[in-house]
Amino acid sequence: MVEFTYVMLKPDGVKLGLYEEVERIFAENGLTIVKHKLDNLNGNKELIREHYAHLLDKSFYPDLENFMMSGDIMPMIVMGENAVAKVRALIGPTNVLKARNEAPDSLRARFGNPDFGPANVIHASDSKENAVVEIKRFFGITITQPEMVEEGSKYEDSGYSKIMKARRKIRESWKSR
Ligand code: UDP
Ligand code: MG
Repeated sequence: MVEFTYVMLKPDGVKLGLYEEVERIFAENGLTIVKHKLDNLNGNKELIREHYAHLLDKSFYPDLENFMMSGDIMPMIVMGENAVAKVRALIGPTNVLKARNEAPDSLRARFGNPDFGPANVIHASDSKENAVVEIKRFFGITITQPEMVEEGSKYEDSGYSKIMKARRKIRESWKSR
């Protein structure tokens, strides 16, 4: 199913200039970056606390908060078939050492810093529901997950569905070149 997900280069990912590499890997996997921007969380502790609310009581939280304010970030909206799970697989496990062992081709394995927990270059939503919340948080817009493009759904003949079908055809024609 086509989904939107929220992805974000963290300050280390921006400093390493990873945008083009991420775009290339996503494109190879049928994922499109539909929007991105350079931004900065400096001083916005409230937003960081909201984003990492599930980690507030952890001993490493202060490190994480400072790290997120240590440079520019790059929020992105990504779409594609099974985008949430696909992007999570492409970025790899949270822990960089674990990523190196279990998913050596992943972005976190290749570019993360194994000596500093928060420095794993990239964030991605862990569910479709959280993607909606995180896109609202960082872009201020409420997107609709396009369940409507599912084959056989009551929206199948909607304009949106036609666009998605056309998009698939274009991608397939590129693959066969
Ligand atoms: N983090 C950390 N130490 C840990 C666990 C997490 O510094 O032991 C940081 C790391 O940057 C991670 C972020 O907190 O990406 C959010 O953690 P979460 O468990 O949500 O992992 P993620 O969804 O990013 O894989
Ligand atoms: Mg998480």
